[in-house]
Amino acid sequence: MPLPNVVIVGAGVTGSMLAMLVKEMGLPVRVLEKSRSAGGRMATRELRGGAGGDKVAGRADLGAQYITTRSPPEHAVLGPVYRDLETAGVLRPFSGEVAGPNPYGGAGAEVRHFSAPAGLQSVAQRFLDRSGARVQYERALSALELLPGGGLRLDVASGGGAPAALDAEGGVDAPTVVVLTQPVPQVLGRSRFPVSGNFLERLDGDTSAALAKVEYSSRFAAAYFFNAEDFAWKETWTARYFERGDVRYVAHDTGKRGAGLDESMVSVLVHSGVPLGIEFKDDVAPFDRAAARLLEDLQQKLPGVPWDKAASVKVHKWLYSQVYKGIGAKRPAPDWTWDSGDGGFPGCAELFRTERALGLLAGDAMAPASNFEGCVFSAHRAAEAIKAYADALAATAAPPGGGEGGDLRVAAR
Ligand SMILES: Cc1cc2nc3c(=O)[nH]c(=O)nc-3n(C[C@H](O)[C@H](O)[C@H](O)COP(=O)(O)OP(=O)(O)OC[C@H]3O[C@@H](n4cnc5c(N)ncnc54)[C@H](O)[C@@H]3O)c2cc1C
Repeated sequence: MPLPNVVIVGAGVTGSMLAMLVKEMGLPVRVLEKSRSAGGRMATRELRGGAGGDKVAGRADLGAQYITTRSPPEHAVLGPVYRDLETAGVLRPFSGEVAGPNPYGGAGAEVRHFSAPAGLQSVAQRFLDRSGARVQYERALSALELLPGGGLRLDVASGGGAPAALDAEGGVDAPTVVVLTQPVPQVLGRSRFPVSGNFLERLDGDTSAALAKVEYSSRFAAAYFFNAEDFAWKETWTARYFERGDVRYVAHDTGKRGAGLDESMVSVLVHSGVPLGIEFKDDVAPFDRAAARLLEDLQQKLPGVPWDKAASVKVHKWLYSQVYKGIGAKRPAPDWTWDSGDGGFPGCAELFRTERALGLLAGDAMAPASNFEGCVFSAHRAAEAIKAYADALAATAAPPGGGEGGDLRVAAR
């Protein structure tokens, strides 16, 4: 029996870390990502142009802001992850003042924060680079169909309409493992960018009910970019959480990241509260109104910042922000630690299994924390499930089936 092909859907932190783990197992792996770049909810907005031509003039972390760990540096699993990210210059300790009610806890002997000079997106990119996996951007999985012979058909839509054929790296007779890492409502077909097909028909009732209970918070992010000569900042803090109002978080993003000299512009990143996200949840073009609401509150909260002099403002709606209720409606904990156990979270859920195909769902909704380490946890659990499947295939060592539709078939749209 050939090695299974592993197809990971989504190049966020979970998918990227998983690509690295699967590659270490020696299995052929590829990653499909619907966006133009890696990172997912650890997205970094890059502003190009200005005096530097097409070069990056400024960056801002639109989603996750910094990474927090309560693990000791010598931790068996997390230690090497952080060491590599620091050595590669992707992460650096973040010890700037974080004011207000910080859900992740203040930095100290037991709590370490990290920021990413080039933006947190570079974390997923680092994992992908290390994995050596083939990554295809602007390729969205649009349908997943279990075939009568136990094989799989993947339909892939490409952003620009270009052909998006996948060849089966492990050979057409190879079984296939597909790991979905996108937000759960998208997998269940309850959202824009659904995945169609019959792949949920074999889902057992308990898992189906547990997945249906997953909920995410919604919020807006706004990145303000200033030319350095137009910018003023009088605060002592680098980031601050607010308890009330439309604006709930503000960061001097350039300072938070300790950005390099390649950035000529200064960025300030703002997150709205969840109520504003919910108010405009079903609105397809809420950006101007959300921006106006945020600006009004910003002018009151931080009148010293010349908001009207921003050279560029990017507003983003996080329909699926952080997990509010994880699988089975269990509440994730921002102060979860790896060594405290899994809290009953499985790390990944099995969607289907045949002798020729395995489907898994991974990501922070399966984990005890909706953050970086929750994703690392989920990726490890998914990797264990893939290894068990590959080992079971090797043990049976059945000759390639050649049954009807038993191969990996990929259709392009
Ligand atoms: C506003 C905000 C603030 C946050 N703050 C923090 C923080 O400070 N610290 C922290 O650690 N965490 C924070 N988080 C949480 C953290 O960002 C998430 O836990 C983590 O990024 C989730 O990663 P993931 O890979 O599981 O999912 P995602 O990042 O959602 O990745 C899924 C990927 O799948 C892709 N995709 C979706 N559908 C398809 C398809 N059909 N085909 C192909 N690709 C597809 C998406 O484009 C995406 O890249 C924050 C999140 C948000 C939104």
